[in-house]
Amino acid sequence: MVTLLEYLSFVYCCLNLIERLNFGIFYSKTNYVNALANWILISRMNKMNTTLHKIAIVDATGSGKGKRRFTRDAIGAGSRSVYGVLEKLGVEAKIFLAEDVLEKGFPKGFSSIFISAMSMDKIAVKRVISSWRKNAKGRVVVGGPISSELDSTLLSTRADIIVIGEGEKTIKELIEYDALRKSSSKEILEKILGIGYFYSKGKTKINGFRKYSSREEFRLYQASTKCITDYPKYFSAKVYVECVRGCSNFKGTKILLLDGRQCSECDYCDSYSLEDRLKCPEGIPPGCGFCSVPNLFGPARSRTPDRVVNEIAELLENNVKRIILSAPDFLDFGRDNELGDNLLMNPYFPKANTKLIEELLSQITSLESVAQGKAWIEVENVKAHLFTEEVAKILAKYLPGSSFSIGCETGSESHAIQLGRSSMPKETLRAVKIAHKYGLKSHVYFIHSLPGQTKQTATETVKLIHDLEPYIEKVTIYRFRPLPMSAFGDFPPPEPAIRNPISKMIADAANEVNLRKKTNLVGKKIRVILSEPNYREENGAIANILEGGPMVAVEDAKERIGEIVTVFIDKVITEKLVHGKIVE
Ligand code: SF4
Repeated sequence: MVTLLEYLSFVYCCLNLIERLNFGIFYSKTNYVNALANWILISRMNKMNTTLHKIAIVDATGSGKGKRRFTRDAIGAGSRSVYGVLEKLGVEAKIFLAEDVLEKGFPKGFSSIFISAMSMDKIAVKRVISSWRKNAKGRVVVGGPISSELDSTLLSTRADIIVIGEGEKTIKELIEYDALRKSSSKEILEKILGIGYFYSKGKTKINGFRKYSSREEFRLYQASTKCITDYPKYFSAKVYVECVRGCSNFKGTKILLLDGRQCSECDYCDSYSLEDRLKCPEGIPPGCGFCSVPNLFGPARSRTPDRVVNEIAELLENNVKRIILSAPDFLDFGRDNELGDNLLMNPYFPKANTKLIEELLSQITSLESVAQGKAWIEVENVKAHLFTEEVAKILAKYLPGSSFSIGCETGSESHAIQLGRSSMPKETLRAVKIAHKYGLKSHVYFIHSLPGQTKQTATETVKLIHDLEPYIEKVTIYRFRPLPMSAFGDFPPPEPAIRNPISKMIADAANEVNLRKKTNLVGKKIRVILSEPNYREENGAIANILEGGPMVAVEDAKERIGEIVTVFIDKVITEKLVHGKIVE
């Protein structure tokens, strides 16, 4: 008898056929026979696979050599998205933090592990894999930004399989084709797009890349919410909810690349069609030279307000208290809706979809715990050129006093143009002035040691940092890292700012501004979330400032861990820690 699963698989295969026919690809009888064979294979395997697997998802994002030093209070959307795919397939899974499995080992009973990580986490990933292999034989799958290094990710981590770019469809196929079983054949792996693996002794193979998801497909993906309680500090952590995937900036860098490629000013990348934009005769990856988002995740696609709101509502029901509306640019939210079937690859037109943004924020802030002030919502990133008075009014109306980040990267306009930036430094200054006028808090990001950095560009960046100071909360400086699949992927990693006098000018300016900002906290009342006991102070707790900033050691707060409270800051303890007392 045909089960529901078999029936659905059959429908799925038929839809695939129809989809291909629509694109005008000739489909022969052999293809139909193959599709039918696939259907039988998939449906039979589905039955076995979902019951045979129990997957440990290890979130290693930001864990570096094994322990997270920064962003300890952040829970990204990546591992929850992987869990969401497994949940839909009926596969049992559990999320672990890399630092926890390294300390306590893996519990028994898991058949495979999926590790999600960034390039900087390679050492942690290697350690997790060797800890896993001590007692288990199941396959190791590694995904997230770390896999954009392709063969080198496989060779350096010794994972069995890497998932490149968006993972949802690929993970689904790994399960459906039973590719997680050690005994599964190379022929099975060869069928799956978007993966890399060891083909024969020590030799790696990268299959063809998978096309990024369409807007409709992306809207069907749903990160799991029930798995949030697998994270030890979910009740006080910032939980990222994906609103937009991909980037609308498809301009390329104009900087001469190490292999001699350079923009010839053909203007294809200013075109409205993806085909033309990707036709760059020089083969320069789209987007800012240092960034791999457009190449890895494609043009910006946004989810529907309903999907975002439902996910947030479920997280809040699970006792989450801090939500970050995550996007490479939150102001791309809903811009793609106005383009019909076209893709959003123009950073400027149409302008921000304030109607849909307002609809989203109004629904979120109507949720009971948000309306009662028991949960905190903020926006992750915005692009300065889309940030207008109208946008600021909406953010201030629904998320008063909240903060967001603006990537400025360089204070020099000519450098920004060379890098392929869509927003100019003067637009960042304009945006933070508007935000300040409406009581919103901006964090501005810069990158030192970028290709094209000179004493002149650094001097202009220092000046901009000082010009921004009255209007912002904090400046963050990153060191340039050559990211695989970005235009600057082959550039050598630069030295720390301390060893480069020009980069040091930028880092010093940021440190001066941030130190003054920290001292300014003394005497202020701020809202914090109490996160963990303070082992250095009896009955004390450590808290995170909701709108971002240093940690706060709060007196007599141990019993109230997990609550949002207002504290009065009475002194600075160290560069990263201030002291406060609960005032309500
Ligand atoms: S840095 Fe931002 S604007 Fe530039 S390509 Fe990356 S996501 Fe897009």
